[in-house]
Amino acid sequence: MHALSINNVKKSYGATDVLKGIDIDIEAGQFLILVGPSGCGKSTLLNMIAGLETVTSGSINIGDRDVTYLAPKDRDIAMVFQSYALYPNMTVAENISFGMEIRKVDKAEQASTLDRVANMLQIVPLLDRKPSQLSGGQRQRVAMGRALARDPSLFLFDEPLSNLDAKLRVEMRTEIKQLHQRMGTTIVYVTHDQIEAMTLGDRIAVMKDGEVQQFGEPREIYDNPANMFVAGFMGSPSMNFIPSKVVSENGKLGVRINAGTGDFELPVNGAGERLQSRVGSEILLGLRPEMITQRVEEKMNSDTTRVASCVVDVVEPTGPDTLVFVQMNESKVVCRVKPESAVDAGKNMELMFDMSKAVFFDPESGARV
Ligand code: ADP
Ligand code: MG
Repeated sequence: MHALSINNVKKSYGATDVLKGIDIDIEAGQFLILVGPSGCGKSTLLNMIAGLETVTSGSINIGDRDVTYLAPKDRDIAMVFQSYALYPNMTVAENISFGMEIRKVDKAEQASTLDRVANMLQIVPLLDRKPSQLSGGQRQRVAMGRALARDPSLFLFDEPLSNLDAKLRVEMRTEIKQLHQRMGTTIVYVTHDQIEAMTLGDRIAVMKDGEVQQFGEPREIYDNPANMFVAGFMGSPSMNFIPSKVVSENGKLGVRINAGTGDFELPVNGAGERLQSRVGSEILLGLRPEMITQRVEEKMNSDTTRVASCVVDVVEPTGPDTLVFVQMNESKVVCRVKPESAVDAGKNMELMFDMSKAVFFDPESGARV
């Protein structure tokens, strides 16, 4: 039995298909992220799990119950929205207790739940304040407290951090992760931010245009993207897609690239068999910025690395490392190097290509090769 099971769920508004058949299963205690660009259908799907939107077809199960046609209050869920929707004339304590009051939970239990939740979220000193007397982060905590007071079988979050400033967003992200680790609850969390997705999720569904492009663990999605969309959407800076040509030299397959200083070839290792039929054709080499670095001596004897001299276009220090942009086959390529090894724009730099995680895409369709 899955904690949540979404089975071929579709949603149309008139002639517009907003969700085109979603299938996702997660287990109890998992943290599921729905991530994708604005308008891809994340909130619609979450609202359908919550019962705030009807499904056009398909079914949704929470635990062993088919909830597809149940009212929101009967689904045993709690939801935290982007806008916190706190009652402005109630205190923090009253906001958190309101749901229990409605459900006529007895006073002693209400008090102990309030105490537990307020301690967990470290908002005890705020209990007598009104929402207008709180900062953005504190309001966000109260909204979470209201959800936590319910002890539901499923928590739903819709972009809960997107109204916070960058620093607070990172802090709250860690808090949510900690909370999940302590409580072991099952969470479905919507975000358009791929970093939030990578850091929080233990399962990620990458969505685009009402479809799940890939569903898996964060590492798998990062290292083994199903297509160019997923490869480009997850990771910052984005994966490089380098136009190159499949070549065969002395029976060894490689890809050929020009970086302004003459042609060089890179090994393709594991992808050899799949590239065999494409010798002589164009292909897109997918290589993350951290796989193109300064020369690293310990890695130089590996079958998967190769060094080439490249003309540096632009240099961007980020602090811990420096981004170096070079032109390769008329395409801009970003490399992540140690700050002390970066050279000035216009100069040549020896760059090491580590092909151990290289992926390849069909230039026409964007599909993985
Ligand atoms: P996301 O949360 O990923 O940004 P949404 O789920 O809010 O996306 O919206 C998905 C798509 O459905 C969007 O193109 C949006 O315009 C459309 N949509 C949402 N609600 C309605 C509605 N009530 N009527 C028509 N179209 C809608
Ligand atoms: Mg949304």
